[in-house]
Amino acid sequence: MSRIASILLPLPLSEAFDYSEPEGMDLHVGDQVAAPLGSRLVHGVVAALRDADGGNRPLKPVDARIDAPPLPPNALEFIQWAARYAVSDPGQPLAMALRGARAPKAKPAKVIEITGLTPAKLTAARAQVLAVAPQGFASSADLARAAGVSPGVIKGLIEEGVLALRLIEADPRFPEPDLALAGPELNVSQAAAATELKTMMAAGGFNVALLDGITGSGKTEVYLEAVHAALAADPDAQVLVLLPEIALTQAVIARFEARFAAAPGEWHSDIAPPQRRKVWDGVATGLCRIVVGARSALFLPFRKLTLVIVDEEHDTSYKQEDGFIYQARDLAVARAKIEAASVILASATPSLESLRNAETGRYRWLRLTARHGVARLPDIQLVDMRASPPASGFWLSPPLVEALKATYAAGEQSLLFLNRRGYAPLVLCKACGERMTAPDTDSWLVEHRYSGRLVCHLTGFSMPKPAACPHCGALDSLVSIGPGVERVEEEAKALFPEARIAVFSSDTLWDAREARNLIAAMEEGQLDILVATQAAAKGHNFPNLTLVGVVDADLGLRGGDLRAAERTYQLLAQATGRAGRKDRPGRALLQTYAPEHAVMQALQAQDRDAFTTAELHERDMAGLPPFGRLAALIISGPDPMALEAFVQILAQAAPNADGVQVYGPADAPLGLVRGRRRKRFLVRADRTVDLSAYLAAWRARARPPAAIRLAIDVDPYSFL
Ligand code: ADP
Repeated sequence: MSRIASILLPLPLSEAFDYSEPEGMDLHVGDQVAAPLGSRLVHGVVAALRDADGGNRPLKPVDARIDAPPLPPNALEFIQWAARYAVSDPGQPLAMALRGARAPKAKPAKVIEITGLTPAKLTAARAQVLAVAPQGFASSADLARAAGVSPGVIKGLIEEGVLALRLIEADPRFPEPDLALAGPELNVSQAAAATELKTMMAAGGFNVALLDGITGSGKTEVYLEAVHAALAADPDAQVLVLLPEIALTQAVIARFEARFAAAPGEWHSDIAPPQRRKVWDGVATGLCRIVVGARSALFLPFRKLTLVIVDEEHDTSYKQEDGFIYQARDLAVARAKIEAASVILASATPSLESLRNAETGRYRWLRLTARHGVARLPDIQLVDMRASPPASGFWLSPPLVEALKATYAAGEQSLLFLNRRGYAPLVLCKACGERMTAPDTDSWLVEHRYSGRLVCHLTGFSMPKPAACPHCGALDSLVSIGPGVERVEEEAKALFPEARIAVFSSDTLWDAREARNLIAAMEEGQLDILVATQAAAKGHNFPNLTLVGVVDADLGLRGGDLRAAERTYQLLAQATGRAGRKDRPGRALLQTYAPEHAVMQALQAQDRDAFTTAELHERDMAGLPPFGRLAALIISGPDPMALEAFVQILAQAAPNADGVQVYGPADAPLGLVRGRRRKRFLVRADRTVDLSAYLAAWRARARPPAAIRLAIDVDPYSFL
């Protein structure tokens, strides 16, 4: 009897499409196939197979099975679960899951080899070629050059069969982790945490632990032990380690290499396509046992995932805001549940969501409260900028400058932290007051001195800084307002002309390699002062760093969204936690205009629990996450009238449900992006409500017209 294959396609379609299975193709669920759609062939995955019942209308046949590893059933289930959760079409997470499957394989390497045949005539030139050939050459031209002969000599030897070109397929294997190696001896509290993790993993099934340890307490060492236990327990077991920043992967990969004498599979946006394909295939076939990667590694086709680690679990870059909108930490827990795997969430400043789960006993709570060895947490001092302001036009206060001087004089390193890229966040005309804004977006243009351009950080639009004000035409009237990292670097250079100073931000570094080099230079003590955005403020170990200066501690508190205080606390605790990680004590100075704010007080007192308890209480009173759930609907379109009309229809269509409140429509704070007007709804729901189902029902009642886009953001982090 013939069968029908439901094929999931990586396209915005609400469901799988049916095709007939050609005779003899013998498909299985998870197989990758090419299926016709309109006039083209699309790379899809078999989601289900069923017997045809005869009464069906004729279906198009599947074109071909693609010779590649199938998607394991759990991966397929996860994709469908994630789509439902995010109120998206399954094609979106499927496209992410297939990203590596569709990357080209590494081309086979070419080598010219000596076959063993004796040449008919051995000239001096030929002898020279045969002498150097064993060194291994990939082309005739290379070999000819090395031997100092003309390419014709090589050609002749190949024709005679003395030399032959051989293709060597790229090795699909990954080095096997060496489980006989031992890690460092754990201290008492680390050992206790590692033991508890091993007990949890040995029990089997889905379990989550929150590894809550101050910066430098050895969380990484502890989770490496858990990885060891997972790999040792089962020769097929696979482990996934998620990291929030690509800049962190190198250091963590180096630690895995040191621990297991084997490099793990690496996965993030900077990986070249053939390597991406190798990791994908390796994960799908079980050859790759450890993956260290960014959030999208979550969609890899693991065959037997038994342990998932989310490092810096509080980090907001786990939230993907465009395309398929998801929170990777939350999806990691969901994936582990499907796989019946263990999860370790590690952080020095856990999210309130995870803390709440630990408090209620849903997660095991493992705390490390001291730094390893003699290292201590840095002393934290608040600099009241009202009492000790910097000179006009400068950003570093006298106490911070003094601290920088003392640190530099002692031959130690400083980090100046400012979470703002570029030179100045605002450029205005002192003649007419005009603020330079992007042409089609509600945002100020940020001045970048390195590139000499004004840049919109939202859309990437940029223009050279004009000589005259575009509004009033006044010459040389544009002034830079406020500091970005480039401006702080300028100030530091003026203060310390002899010092070695560098900036670390995504605009000043061209690629991941340059970022790695700068991190390495800092680790090795080749820099005195590093001025950095958050990209360098997390996770790194700079042994000689003893001073952290936070240029604008209040920055994250402005705007005041749901997580402003929580995020500020986390970011500043991370940034200040870079100091004093070895034997030298560290200190941190926080420049603030609001020293009385609860966040600043908690940071100074190093009393995280007081802060989180107060913050959790406020969230509880307001029914906000983690006590209630939120979702945002963002509606955008080029025509304000059409947008308004649709938004009204959408408002009317909102289903009534117990425990759900809908706020809006309201103009989005970012009312115009790339020429599109934006409106928002905010939905709050009790935890018991199936919010995804509610949103799906709502959306089904009001499909947007063609020019209007409706994005649904479950558990939003951005309220712009
Ligand atoms: P965290 O991940 O909590 O910030 P790390 O695991 O990076 O902490 O540890 C901080 C530093 O202390 C690292 O350089 C690490 O190698 C070292 N360290 C931690 N625990 C030990 C240990 N038991 N023995 C030796 N060195 C350790």
